[in-house]
Amino acid sequence: MKHNFNAGPSILPRVVFEEASRAILDFNGTGLSILEIGHRTPLFEAVLQEAVSLVKELMQLKEDKEVLFLHGGASTQFFQLPMNFLSKETTAAYLDAGVWGSKAIKEAKLFGNVKVVASSKETHYDRIPDSYSVPDDAVYFHYTTNNTIEGTQMHAIPAVNIPLVADMSSDILSREMDFNRFDFIYAGAQKNIGAAGVNLVVANKGFLEKGNTGIPSMMEYRQHVANGSMLNTPPVFAIYVCLLTLRWLKSIGGVAAMEKINDQKASLLYNTLESLPIFHLPVAPQDRSLMNAVFTMKDPDLEASFLQACKEEGMVGVKGHRSVGGFRISLYNALPLSSVETLTALMKHFASKHG
Ligand SMILES: *Cc1c(COP(=O)(O)O)cnc(C)c1O
Repeated sequence: MKHNFNAGPSILPRVVFEEASRAILDFNGTGLSILEIGHRTPLFEAVLQEAVSLVKELMQLKEDKEVLFLHGGASTQFFQLPMNFLSKETTAAYLDAGVWGSKAIKEAKLFGNVKVVASSKETHYDRIPDSYSVPDDAVYFHYTTNNTIEGTQMHAIPAVNIPLVADMSSDILSREMDFNRFDFIYAGAQKNIGAAGVNLVVANKGFLEKGNTGIPSMMEYRQHVANGSMLNTPPVFAIYVCLLTLRWLKSIGGVAAMEKINDQKASLLYNTLESLPIFHLPVAPQDRSLMNAVFTMKDPDLEASFLQACKEEGMVGVKGHRSVGGFRISLYNALPLSSVETLTALMKHFASKHG
Protein backbone atom coordinates (compact mmCIF):
# COMPACT_ATOMS: atom_id res chain seq x y z
CA MET A 1 0.00 0.00 0.00
CA LYS A 2 1.22 3.46 -0.94
CA HIS A 3 0.93 6.66 1.07
CA ASN A 4 0.78 9.42 -1.51
CA PHE A 5 2.03 12.79 -0.26
CA ASN A 6 2.61 14.18 -3.76
CA ALA A 7 2.25 17.94 -4.18
CA GLY A 8 0.41 17.79 -7.50
CA PRO A 9 -0.86 15.97 -9.39
CA SER A 10 -1.76 14.29 -6.17
CA ILE A 11 -3.93 11.75 -4.43
CA LEU A 12 -7.63 11.61 -5.26
CA PRO A 13 -10.25 9.51 -3.49
CA ARG A 14 -10.11 5.79 -4.31
CA VAL A 15 -13.77 5.84 -5.37
CA VAL A 16 -12.92 8.52 -7.95
CA PHE A 17 -10.26 6.29 -9.53
CA GLU A 18 -12.69 3.37 -9.62
CA GLU A 19 -15.58 5.29 -11.15
CA ALA A 20 -13.33 7.09 -13.62
CA SER A 21 -11.89 3.76 -14.78
CA ARG A 22 -15.37 2.31 -15.26
CA ALA A 23 -16.42 5.37 -17.27
CA ILE A 24 -13.48 4.93 -19.60
CA LEU A 25 -14.82 1.51 -20.53
CA ASP A 26 -18.54 2.20 -20.33
CA PHE A 27 -19.92 5.59 -19.38
CA ASN A 28 -23.17 5.29 -17.42
CA GLY A 29 -24.19 2.10 -19.22
CA THR A 30 -24.21 3.79 -22.63
CA GLY A 31 -21.80 1.32 -24.20
CA LEU A 32 -19.54 4.29 -24.96
CA SER A 33 -16.37 5.47 -23.28
CA ILE A 34 -16.37 8.91 -21.63
CA LEU A 35 -13.39 9.52 -23.96
CA GLU A 36 -15.47 9.13 -27.11
CA ILE A 37 -18.71 10.98 -26.38
CA GLY A 38 -19.43 14.32 -28.00
CA HIS A 39 -19.17 17.30 -25.68
CA ARG A 40 -22.38 18.81 -27.09
CA THR A 41 -24.47 15.82 -26.15
CA PRO A 42 -26.94 15.51 -23.29
CA LEU A 43 -24.51 12.97 -21.80
CA PHE A 44 -21.73 15.47 -21.29
CA GLU A 45 -24.01 18.44 -20.69
CA ALA A 46 -25.30 16.61 -17.62
CA VAL A 47 -21.72 16.14 -16.37
CA LEU A 48 -20.89 19.81 -16.76
CA GLN A 49 -24.14 21.01 -15.24
CA GLU A 50 -23.81 18.79 -12.20
CA ALA A 51 -20.17 19.82 -11.70
CA VAL A 52 -21.12 23.51 -11.85
CA SER A 53 -24.01 23.08 -9.45
CA LEU A 54 -21.88 21.09 -6.99
CA VAL A 55 -19.27 23.87 -7.02
CA LYS A 56 -22.01 26.41 -6.26
CA GLU A 57 -23.41 24.26 -3.49
CA LEU A 58 -20.11 23.31 -1.84
CA MET A 59 -18.77 26.88 -2.00
CA GLN A 60 -22.18 28.32 -1.02
CA LEU A 61 -21.99 30.79 -3.86
CA LYS A 62 -24.47 33.59 -4.36
CA GLU A 63 -26.46 34.11 -7.56
CA ASP A 64 -24.00 36.68 -8.92
CA LYS A 65 -21.25 34.09 -9.44
CA GLU A 66 -20.26 32.37 -12.67
CA VAL A 67 -18.53 28.98 -12.54
CA LEU A 68 -16.28 28.03 -15.46
CA PHE A 69 -14.10 25.06 -16.30
CA LEU A 70 -11.29 26.31 -18.54
CA HIS A 71 -8.37 24.71 -20.27
CA GLY A 72 -4.87 24.78 -18.91
CA GLY A 73 -3.38 24.93 -15.47
CA ALA A 74 -3.23 27.78 -13.02
CA SER A 75 -0.27 29.09 -15.01
CA THR A 76 -2.67 29.93 -17.83
CA GLN A 77 -4.66 32.06 -15.40
CA PHE A 78 -1.46 33.92 -14.50
CA PHE A 79 -1.68 35.64 -17.92
CA GLN A 80 -5.34 35.22 -18.84
CA LEU A 81 -6.44 37.26 -15.82
CA PRO A 82 -4.31 40.36 -16.58
CA MET A 83 -5.05 39.98 -20.30
CA ASN A 84 -8.72 40.47 -19.41
CA PHE A 85 -8.50 43.12 -16.73
CA LEU A 86 -5.22 45.03 -16.94
CA SER A 87 -3.92 47.55 -19.47
CA LYS A 88 -0.95 49.86 -19.96
CA GLU A 89 -3.03 52.65 -18.38
CA THR A 90 -4.04 50.74 -15.26
CA THR A 91 -2.36 49.06 -12.29
CA ALA A 92 -3.00 45.74 -10.58
CA ALA A 93 -1.81 45.07 -7.02
CA TYR A 94 -0.12 41.78 -6.10
CA LEU A 95 1.16 40.19 -2.91
CA ASP A 96 4.46 38.38 -3.41
CA ALA A 97 4.45 35.54 -0.87
CA GLY A 98 5.81 32.62 -2.86
CA VAL A 99 7.13 31.23 -6.10
CA TRP A 100 3.67 30.83 -7.68
CA GLY A 101 2.66 34.37 -6.78
CA SER A 102 5.90 35.73 -8.19
CA LYS A 103 5.22 33.91 -11.46
CA ALA A 104 1.78 35.51 -11.60
CA ILE A 105 3.44 38.91 -11.11
CA LYS A 106 5.88 38.28 -13.94
CA GLU A 107 3.06 37.46 -16.35
CA ALA A 108 0.90 40.42 -15.29
CA LYS A 109 3.74 42.81 -16.12
CA LEU A 110 3.35 41.85 -19.77
CA PHE A 111 -0.07 43.51 -19.83
CA GLY A 112 0.16 46.60 -17.63
CA ASN A 113 1.44 48.11 -14.42
CA VAL A 114 1.95 45.97 -11.37
CA LYS A 115 2.25 47.23 -7.82
CA VAL A 116 3.78 44.62 -5.52
CA VAL A 117 2.34 45.64 -2.15
CA ALA A 118 4.71 43.47 -0.10
CA SER A 119 7.12 40.59 -0.48
CA SER A 120 8.66 37.96 1.76
CA LYS A 121 11.22 36.99 -0.84
CA GLU A 122 14.11 38.28 1.29
CA THR A 123 13.40 35.62 3.91
CA HIS A 124 12.90 32.88 1.30
CA TYR A 125 9.13 33.17 1.57
CA ASP A 126 9.14 31.67 5.06
CA ARG A 127 6.15 33.82 6.04
CA ILE A 128 3.25 35.85 4.68
CA PRO A 129 4.04 39.58 4.67
CA ASP A 130 1.87 41.05 7.42
CA SER A 131 1.74 44.78 6.94
CA TYR A 132 0.93 46.31 3.62
CA SER A 133 -1.62 48.58 2.10
CA VAL A 134 -3.43 48.00 -1.15
CA PRO A 135 -3.97 51.04 -3.38
CA ASP A 136 -7.66 51.88 -3.85
CA ASP A 137 -7.21 52.71 -7.51
CA ALA A 138 -5.78 49.35 -8.60
CA VAL A 139 -8.03 47.25 -10.86
CA TYR A 140 -7.69 44.20 -8.60
CA PHE A 141 -5.64 42.74 -5.74
CA HIS A 142 -4.16 39.29 -6.36
CA TYR A 143 -2.84 36.87 -3.78
CA THR A 144 -2.18 33.15 -3.38
CA THR A 145 -4.20 31.58 -0.57
CA ASN A 146 -1.75 28.70 -0.05
CA ASN A 147 1.90 28.72 -1.09
CA THR A 148 2.33 25.13 -2.17
CA ILE A 149 6.10 25.16 -2.49
CA GLU A 150 7.03 27.05 0.67
CA GLY A 151 4.30 25.68 2.94
CA THR A 152 2.64 28.93 4.00
CA GLN A 153 -1.04 29.78 3.98
CA MET A 154 -3.11 32.92 4.47
CA HIS A 155 -5.49 32.18 7.32
CA ALA A 156 -7.62 35.29 6.86
CA ILE A 157 -9.08 37.00 3.82
CA PRO A 158 -7.44 40.40 3.32
CA ALA A 159 -9.78 43.38 3.65
CA VAL A 160 -9.52 45.50 0.52
CA ASN A 161 -11.74 48.04 -1.23
CA ILE A 162 -11.01 46.79 -4.72
CA PRO A 163 -11.84 43.54 -6.55
CA LEU A 164 -10.23 40.62 -4.75
CA VAL A 165 -8.59 37.87 -6.80
CA ALA A 166 -7.07 34.65 -5.47
CA ASP A 167 -5.10 31.71 -6.78
CA MET A 168 -6.57 28.88 -4.67
CA SER A 169 -4.96 26.02 -6.57
CA SER A 170 -3.63 24.18 -3.57
CA ASP A 171 -6.25 24.75 -0.87
CA ILE A 172 -9.58 25.19 -2.62
CA LEU A 173 -12.42 23.41 -0.83
CA SER A 174 -10.10 22.36 1.99
CA ARG A 175 -11.57 24.72 4.59
CA GLU A 176 -14.59 26.90 5.14
CA MET A 177 -14.21 30.33 3.69
CA ASP A 178 -16.52 33.09 2.53
CA PHE A 179 -15.92 32.52 -1.16
CA ASN A 180 -18.41 35.28 -1.95
CA ARG A 181 -15.88 37.87 -0.79
CA PHE A 182 -13.85 37.22 -3.93
CA ASP A 183 -14.47 38.74 -7.34
CA PHE A 184 -12.34 36.15 -9.06
CA ILE A 185 -11.03 32.77 -7.90
CA TYR A 186 -9.04 30.29 -9.94
CA ALA A 187 -7.56 26.90 -9.19
CA GLY A 188 -5.76 24.30 -11.25
CA ALA A 189 -7.66 21.09 -10.59
CA GLN A 190 -4.83 18.67 -9.90
CA LYS A 191 -4.40 19.29 -6.17
CA ASN A 192 -7.79 19.18 -4.50
CA ILE A 193 -10.45 18.82 -7.15
CA GLY A 194 -9.48 16.51 -9.96
CA ALA A 195 -7.20 15.65 -12.83
CA ALA A 196 -4.66 17.97 -14.43
CA GLY A 197 -5.63 19.91 -17.54
CA VAL A 198 -8.51 22.00 -16.28
CA ASN A 199 -8.96 25.14 -14.21
CA LEU A 200 -11.91 25.99 -12.05
CA VAL A 201 -12.81 29.68 -12.26
CA VAL A 202 -15.40 31.31 -10.02
CA ALA A 203 -16.06 34.95 -10.80
CA ASN A 204 -18.53 37.76 -10.21
CA LYS A 205 -20.72 38.48 -13.20
CA GLY A 206 -20.25 42.23 -12.73
CA PHE A 207 -16.47 41.91 -12.58
CA LEU A 208 -16.37 39.85 -15.77
CA GLU A 209 -18.39 42.54 -17.55
CA LYS A 210 -15.49 44.95 -17.00
CA GLY A 211 -13.08 42.75 -18.96
CA ASN A 212 -11.09 43.91 -21.98
CA THR A 213 -12.25 43.19 -25.50
CA GLY A 214 -10.07 42.67 -28.56
CA ILE A 215 -8.26 39.65 -27.11
CA PRO A 216 -8.32 36.12 -28.54
CA SER A 217 -11.72 34.46 -28.06
CA MET A 218 -10.31 31.57 -26.07
CA MET A 219 -8.78 34.07 -23.64
CA GLU A 220 -11.92 36.15 -23.10
CA TYR A 221 -13.83 35.06 -19.99
CA ARG A 222 -17.04 36.70 -21.22
CA GLN A 223 -17.10 34.42 -24.25
CA HIS A 224 -16.65 31.34 -22.07
CA VAL A 225 -19.56 32.51 -19.91
CA ALA A 226 -21.75 33.11 -22.97
CA ASN A 227 -20.95 29.60 -24.18
CA GLY A 228 -21.25 27.81 -20.84
CA SER A 229 -17.59 26.63 -20.74
CA MET A 230 -18.08 25.15 -24.23
CA LEU A 231 -16.52 27.76 -26.47
CA ASN A 232 -14.57 24.86 -27.92
CA THR A 233 -14.13 21.22 -26.90
CA PRO A 234 -13.64 21.29 -23.13
CA PRO A 235 -11.30 18.83 -21.36
CA VAL A 236 -14.12 16.31 -21.04
CA PHE A 237 -12.39 13.64 -18.99
CA ALA A 238 -10.68 16.11 -16.63
CA ILE A 239 -14.04 17.75 -15.93
CA TYR A 240 -15.62 14.35 -15.32
CA VAL A 241 -12.93 13.58 -12.73
CA CYS A 242 -13.73 16.91 -11.05
CA LEU A 243 -17.39 15.91 -10.93
CA LEU A 244 -16.55 12.62 -9.24
CA THR A 245 -14.32 14.35 -6.70
CA LEU A 246 -16.96 16.98 -5.95
CA ARG A 247 -19.57 14.24 -5.44
CA TRP A 248 -17.20 12.51 -3.02
CA LEU A 249 -16.66 15.76 -1.11
CA LYS A 250 -20.40 16.26 -0.78
CA SER A 251 -20.87 12.65 0.33
CA ILE A 252 -18.47 13.03 3.26
CA GLY A 253 -20.29 16.14 4.48
CA GLY A 254 -18.92 18.96 2.34
CA VAL A 255 -16.32 21.58 3.14
CA ALA A 256 -17.06 21.85 6.87
CA ALA A 257 -16.52 18.11 7.39
CA MET A 258 -13.43 18.21 5.18
CA GLU A 259 -11.95 21.04 7.22
CA LYS A 260 -12.27 19.03 10.44
CA ILE A 261 -10.36 16.12 8.93
CA ASN A 262 -7.74 18.42 7.41
CA ASP A 263 -7.25 20.11 10.79
CA GLN A 264 -6.71 16.73 12.42
CA LYS A 265 -4.14 15.68 9.83
CA ALA A 266 -2.20 18.95 10.05
CA SER A 267 -2.23 19.10 13.87
CA LEU A 268 -1.00 15.55 14.16
CA LEU A 269 1.85 16.21 11.74
CA TYR A 270 2.94 19.61 13.10
CA ASN A 271 2.64 18.49 16.74
CA THR A 272 4.80 15.47 15.99
CA LEU A 273 7.41 17.55 14.18
CA GLU A 274 7.52 20.05 17.05
CA SER A 275 7.95 17.30 19.60
CA LEU A 276 10.95 15.77 17.84
CA PRO A 277 14.07 17.93 18.04
CA ILE A 278 15.75 16.27 15.05
CA PHE A 279 13.29 18.12 12.79
CA HIS A 280 13.24 21.81 11.95
CA LEU A 281 10.22 23.82 10.81
CA PRO A 282 11.38 26.81 8.75
CA VAL A 283 7.98 28.48 8.34
CA ALA A 284 6.69 31.17 10.73
CA PRO A 285 4.25 29.24 13.00
CA GLN A 286 1.29 31.59 12.43
CA ASP A 287 1.55 31.12 8.66
CA ARG A 288 1.93 27.34 8.48
CA SER A 289 0.00 25.67 5.72
CA LEU A 290 -2.55 22.99 6.53
CA MET A 291 -2.08 21.59 3.03
CA ASN A 292 1.70 21.46 2.54
CA ALA A 293 3.96 20.99 5.55
CA VAL A 294 7.60 21.84 4.90
CA PHE A 295 10.41 20.73 7.21
CA THR A 296 14.11 19.95 7.20
CA MET A 297 16.37 17.98 9.52
CA LYS A 298 18.78 19.72 11.86
CA ASP A 299 21.43 17.27 10.77
CA PRO A 300 21.30 17.34 6.96
CA ASP A 301 23.26 14.08 6.86
CA LEU A 302 20.17 12.29 8.20
CA GLU A 303 17.94 13.42 5.35
CA ALA A 304 18.92 10.63 2.96
CA SER A 305 18.25 7.91 5.50
CA PHE A 306 14.91 9.45 6.51
CA LEU A 307 13.95 9.54 2.87
CA GLN A 308 14.94 5.89 2.53
CA ALA A 309 12.88 4.96 5.62
CA CYS A 310 9.84 6.69 4.08
CA LYS A 311 10.37 4.83 0.85
CA GLU A 312 10.45 1.48 2.62
CA GLU A 313 7.05 2.26 4.15
CA GLY A 314 5.56 2.92 0.68
CA MET A 315 5.57 6.70 1.07
CA VAL A 316 5.84 8.78 -2.07
CA GLY A 317 6.19 12.51 -2.66
CA VAL A 318 7.90 13.39 0.63
CA LYS A 319 10.92 15.15 -0.86
CA GLY A 320 10.81 18.95 -0.74
CA HIS A 321 10.53 21.12 -3.84
CA ARG A 322 13.86 21.43 -5.62
CA SER A 323 14.01 25.15 -4.77
CA VAL A 324 13.48 24.63 -1.01
CA GLY A 325 15.04 21.26 -0.18
CA GLY A 326 14.21 19.16 2.86
CA PHE A 327 10.78 17.59 2.91
CA ARG A 328 7.26 18.53 1.98
CA ILE A 329 4.21 16.57 3.03
CA SER A 330 1.07 17.43 1.10
CA LEU A 331 -2.12 16.85 3.06
CA TYR A 332 -4.73 17.41 0.38
CA ASN A 333 -8.39 16.54 0.89
CA ALA A 334 -8.15 12.97 -0.37
CA LEU A 335 -5.18 12.02 1.83
CA PRO A 336 -6.51 9.81 4.64
CA LEU A 337 -5.65 10.50 8.28
CA SER A 338 -4.20 6.97 8.43
CA SER A 339 -1.38 8.01 6.07
CA VAL A 340 -0.42 10.81 8.46
CA GLU A 341 -0.61 8.37 11.38
CA THR A 342 1.78 6.02 9.58
CA LEU A 343 4.14 8.87 8.76
CA THR A 344 4.20 10.31 12.28
CA ALA A 345 4.79 6.86 13.76
CA LEU A 346 7.75 6.49 11.44
CA MET A 347 9.05 9.93 12.44
CA LYS A 348 8.94 8.99 16.12
CA HIS A 349 10.63 5.68 15.49
CA PHE A 350 13.30 7.33 13.35
CA ALA A 351 13.92 10.03 15.97
CA SER A 352 14.30 7.46 18.74
CA LYS A 353 16.95 5.68 16.68
CA HIS A 354 18.83 8.82 15.62
CA GLY A 355 17.90 11.44 18.23
C1 LIG B 1 0.44 24.03 -8.70
C2 LIG B 1 0.17 25.49 -8.58
C3 LIG B 1 0.19 26.34 -9.70
C4 LIG B 1 0.56 25.86 -11.08
O1 LIG B 1 -0.38 25.03 -11.62
P1 LIG B 1 -0.21 24.47 -13.12
O2 LIG B 1 -1.49 23.72 -13.27
O3 LIG B 1 1.00 23.62 -13.17
O4 LIG B 1 -0.11 25.65 -14.02
C5 LIG B 1 -0.12 27.66 -9.50
N1 LIG B 1 -0.42 28.15 -8.29
C6 LIG B 1 -0.43 27.36 -7.19
C7 LIG B 1 -0.77 27.95 -5.86
C8 LIG B 1 -0.13 26.02 -7.31
O5 LIG B 1 -0.14 25.22 -6.22
